[in-house]
Amino acid sequence: MPGWLSAGLAIQASYFVTAVLFIMGLKRMSSPVTARSGILWAGAGMAVATLITFLYPGMANYELILPAMLVGGILAWWSGKRVAMTNMPQMIALYNGMGGGAAAAIAAVELYRGGAGGYVSDALAVLGGIIGAVSFAGSAIAFGKLQGLITRSFRFAGQQILNLAILGAALVLGAMVAAHLDASPAVVTGFFVLALVLGITMTLPIGGADMPVVISLYNALTGLAVGLEGFVLDNAAMIIAGTVVGAAGTLLTQLMAKAMNRSLANVLFSNFGDTSSPAAGGITGTQKAIEASDAGVMLAFSQKVIVVPGYGMAVAQAQHKVWELCQLLLDKGVTVRFAIHPVAGRMPGHMNVLLAEAGVPYELIADLEEINAEFETADVALIIGANDVVNPDARANKSSPIYGMPILNADKAKNVIVIKRGQGQGFSGIDNALFVLDQTRMLYGDAQAAVGQLIQAVKAAG
Ligand code: NAP
Repeated sequence: MPGWLSAGLAIQASYFVTAVLFIMGLKRMSSPVTARSGILWAGAGMAVATLITFLYPGMANYELILPAMLVGGILAWWSGKRVAMTNMPQMIALYNGMGGGAAAAIAAVELYRGGAGGYVSDALAVLGGIIGAVSFAGSAIAFGKLQGLITRSFRFAGQQILNLAILGAALVLGAMVAAHLDASPAVVTGFFVLALVLGITMTLPIGGADMPVVISLYNALTGLAVGLEGFVLDNAAMIIAGTVVGAAGTLLTQLMAKAMNRSLANVLFSNFGDTSSPAAGGITGTQKAIEASDAGVMLAFSQKVIVVPGYGMAVAQAQHKVWELCQLLLDKGVTVRFAIHPVAGRMPGHMNVLLAEAGVPYELIADLEEINAEFETADVALIIGANDVVNPDARANKSSPIYGMPILNADKAKNVIVIKRGQGQGFSGIDNALFVLDQTRMLYGDAQAAVGQLIQAVKAAG
């Protein structure tokens, strides 16, 4: 290394480059066109930060660090390659959890060896430790729920009080450690055990379908924990990365809650979407079925079709068939657009990712604000496995649990065709007023099979 370039200067300069790469990466992730390169930019930032950290004075234990990095890297590469798009939320939960766990582990190392050097840094270590441990344990439960390993939502009276008591006890032990009243290994261990238990008991009662919001919240908490531990270690890259993740996670959590018209407290502390809660009824009328052959003719002779994909399309993995159908319609001169609700499916951007995977051009995809005025000019709104996001009760019925949630105005289209397997309800467990409207016809069946039949019908329509 040239004389003028000290290790410290090289590290700080590299962390600056890292910060720029993170921010540019994040910016690029805000559009589907540049999102892939955004991930690569942020990944490059992470690589720079990781490599330069080896220059830290006093770095040792290479024989442990390098094999650990190798094992972790191979596992991440292998699992990232294999994961199905529909399993992405639990994958993210797992990776988030690891980040929180890593932050908590740093806190544990500092606190077990007798503190990080003063009251302030010990208090930051404790704070980052509890947040990281909660995020780690909570994300593990979220993973278990989404993976179907945990199928029950454990709820009992007084649950919130128990959680508050655990939090209180963890904070008392943490305060004792931070104030140097008793920082013995027993107290530090008790503190971390309570924090881990809190993550579990907080997450167990939350319904599986609410997990994406919870994962996003834990993502934000992980960022916060990493940032706090960055102060403890005096590591600028950790502070910057943690702050960026914390801020992005908080914004995403807020946006998701807003798009569902629910407060975060409602997500965390209510039993929404629990099938045992009574469905808000009040919907009269019957659903009218249509045959695929008739629906195909209707589509083939339309001028404009707006496709509304939802959770059912994701479950059925019908996106490729849907695009095949739309290409046939486009070839016939039909105007086709895709309308995406911000929380259609079960994770943010769920539909965009699936449609992109199927090769749907971005310019055909519109979000809620952009497309809602267009439904009035559509001959057909083709709803594929979507339910809550097109329920007009959200606009009109004040007693509906989803009242106030912004919805796609599919009911304004001249005709509505709904593909779903039967009379099943959506995520919110309520009936849908759209399905019994005069202009609505139900095409019952699995989304993939039903769209396959529509393809045949459109071809037959000449
Ligand atoms: P939804 O309300 O959950 O409805 C999905 C519909 O798809 C169901 O009514 C179901 O009816 C049908 N379906 C299921 N499997 C199917 C298959 N194989 N083929 C055809 N249809 C199938 O979905 P959504 O309209 O997309 O709304 C998303 C909901 O999730 C919203 O309430 C939202 O607030 C919530 N949520 C979203 C997120 C997010 O980040 N995106 C996060 C948390 C919660 P059948 O059983 O009759 O087939």
